[in-house]
Amino acid sequence: GATIGILGGGQLGRMISMAAAQLGYRVHIYAPEKDSVAAEVSARFTSAAWHDREAMQDFAQACDVVTYEFENVPVAPLSALSGGLLAPGTLALEVAQDRYREKRFVEQLGGKPAPYAAIDHDNEMADGIARVGAPGIMKTRRDGYDGKGQWKIASPADGAGVRVPESGLVYEGLVHFECEFSVILVRSRTGEVRFWDSTRNVHDNGILAHCELPAPDIVAAQIDDARELAQKAAEALDYVGVMTMEFFATSVGPVFNEMAPRVHNSGHWTIEGAVTSQFENHVRAICGLPLGDTASVAATISMDNLIGAQALDVVGHLSDPRAHLHLYGKAEARAGRKMGHVTRVG
Ligand code: ATP
Ligand code: MG
Ligand code: MG
Repeated sequence: GATIGILGGGQLGRMISMAAAQLGYRVHIYAPEKDSVAAEVSARFTSAAWHDREAMQDFAQACDVVTYEFENVPVAPLSALSGGLLAPGTLALEVAQDRYREKRFVEQLGGKPAPYAAIDHDNEMADGIARVGAPGIMKTRRDGYDGKGQWKIASPADGAGVRVPESGLVYEGLVHFECEFSVILVRSRTGEVRFWDSTRNVHDNGILAHCELPAPDIVAAQIDDARELAQKAAEALDYVGVMTMEFFATSVGPVFNEMAPRVHNSGHWTIEGAVTSQFENHVRAICGLPLGDTASVAATISMDNLIGAQALDVVGHLSDPRAHLHLYGKAEARAGRKMGHVTRVG
């Protein structure tokens, strides 16, 4: 059978691998770590640095298509994956790796992010905060995830203690939202687009904690605008696969937060809660197969992330016979680490 290469070795790669195996594909993981929870369920594992040219070339030779489960993969070494091997392509990565570029990109498409300012040097700090206003959130332009690389700024004085890293910062005004939601879509090689239902997403300390359907009415009222923006973005990027856009539902409409050029934690419920999961449709899209139905199988669905020690009580979680428990096979239940999730349908 054909081989799918995945750049990145975390739980998203693991769940893509499981969907790929169901469709008869072999999976080859490429990740810099020595241990990979994706490699554990895959046929092959290359543990090598992103910039290891030879390893990347060997990997490219062994794969029929290559995708990524992590938006911070450096773009330069991916030139080894020429000839349309990579799906989605490098443009989506370049845009989504840089919070400033991503916001400009979305604005050009008619989207509305929170007020923001790029801060590239220490001497731009005071002006950047003044232009946007406090309170707000300071974020690293690159490399942040799960709320890492972010600081609350309550008043302009809080900026004085922040050192600007080489790759810069983006300062955003604090958005007052009624709820958070994300648009998850899949786009095929022929340009067909399908959307999953949008859940209410609840974060705790910058980490997704809980998703639920149905979402509040305000999401239904704003979903068309949000979907239109996400679809425009996917088309502008000539995107193939699953793409996610996070939004704040506010009194002035959907405010764009960020995009992820990949399957997303807020779509884990689709494994049991949709006719076709985000993982399966991602595989179908990158492999040029027909897309599956994205409809939800019930009106009421919830997904709870298991963070750190929350994952340890396996028997407790399974004491609800309706609970679908997913554990990612991570050895250490460190605080703040995504260890698994529980989905309930209906
Ligand atoms: P992810 O794991 O989703 O990639 P991330 O580290 O990229 O997370 P963000 O999505 O930027 O982080 O922020 C994490 C959460 O922090 C948001 O989902 C939201 O709850 C809160 N947040 C971020 N920016 C703002 C803002 N400008 N106003 C209000 N809340 C915000
Ligand atoms: Mg992010
Ligand atoms: Mg986010």
